[in-house]
Amino acid sequence: VNRSTPPSELPLEWLIVGGGVHGVHLAIRLLDAGLASTRTLAILDPEARPLVAWMRRAERIGMRFLRSPIVHHLAPRPADLTHFLDRTRPAVSRPATRGPNRRPSLELFHAHVRHLADEFDLGATWRRGRALGLRRSEDGSLWTVETDDGSFRAARVALALGAQDALGRPAWADIDGPRVSHLLDVEAVVEEPVAGERVAIVGGGLTAGHAAVRWAEAGAEVVIISRHPVRVARYDTEPGWLGPKNMRGFGRLRSLRRRREAIGAARNRGTMTSDVARNVQRLRDAGRIRWVCAHVRSCHGNASEVSVVLGPVDGAGPDGQEAFSRGRAGGGSTTPSARPGSPSHPVAIPSPTHFCGGPPAST
Ligand SMILES: Cc1cc2nc3c(=O)[nH]c(=O)nc-3n(C[C@H](O)[C@H](O)[C@H](O)COP(=O)(O)OP(=O)(O)OC[C@H]3O[C@@H](n4cnc5c(N)ncnc54)[C@H](O)[C@@H]3O)c2cc1C
Repeated sequence: VNRSTPPSELPLEWLIVGGGVHGVHLAIRLLDAGLASTRTLAILDPEARPLVAWMRRAERIGMRFLRSPIVHHLAPRPADLTHFLDRTRPAVSRPATRGPNRRPSLELFHAHVRHLADEFDLGATWRRGRALGLRRSEDGSLWTVETDDGSFRAARVALALGAQDALGRPAWADIDGPRVSHLLDVEAVVEEPVAGERVAIVGGGLTAGHAAVRWAEAGAEVVIISRHPVRVARYDTEPGWLGPKNMRGFGRLRSLRRRREAIGAARNRGTMTSDVARNVQRLRDAGRIRWVCAHVRSCHGNASEVSVVLGPVDGAGPDGQEAFSRGRAGGGSTTPSARPGSPSHPVAIPSPTHFCGGPPAST
């Protein structure tokens, strides 16, 4: 899909703002159910193709296999991705899945997205542009979405904007210069560390694990700063959320605020899958990754050097001593719900760095 189309003059039945995982899945569900057609539905996104933001994040951290099982994908029926793999035999590298629940490789998942884009003719629905505002007509029958290139009118508008605008950046990371970056910020420039450089990753979850393995294997010296030891969990949530057991009750929640609270409570924050944890351990054993249990008190530096001041977890241990005195620094990421300095969300800082603070407990 790669088409820029001027805003349509005719009102649409559906305008989906955001062509990421959620927006594209919604479009496919509506088209598949016959509730919309490529003439009555449009997807608005600044990017040229579906899922560009997701792919950029996944590729940046070197993720090769999804965490979710093969029954989770963008098509309407749970077995669709299995059938795609078995019947169409796409030219993807093997193994194309991993683990007992056959987690798909990123390559397989992307091949499936391309296949679905063709099957549902998403190119015909695609409108390039960034939504800037939303207002309702006086009689309430239509919505107008203002974009950076004209406007659209639609009877129904679905917002599937993702979390980009709400990425939490801890106060300590708000320093001048490009050396502290957020791994999930698709608009940020994340400098890749070169062999021999020291990189700090703040956060101890799956994003941190993937990036640490990727950079350590590239020869960087990686320090993960996390408030907790490695925590392993198969999924982002308890398995009950993968099917009707928990989803049925969730579907009955009408309030968006309560839905958001339920999602927050259900998530296994700061966890990584066992395969990523094994790779982290392997590289720790080889001295390529160091895991430091501490929280970040502050961060300062300039274009060539960053110093991160660490404090002890749970208030234990003396502060103010230099824990690391030379090297290169790394980074991390935060998510919308992250509190400043929240450990489960990494922040990447490729640059020379000093780490200072109380002697943190190394685990
Ligand atoms: C390390 C990691 C691993 C993960 N693994 C999995 C996994 O295995 N399985 C899984 O299901 N989930 C996984 N996730 C979570 C998954 O990435 C998110 O749930 C998903 O990307 C959210 O989709 P979205 O459509 O809401 O947002 P996004 O994918 O961010 O898409 C939002 C879209 O909206 C567009 N947009 C933004 N602003 C505007 C605007 N103003 N106007 C128009 N368009 C706009 C963007 O360009 C983008 O295309 C993982 C996340 C991480 C960080």
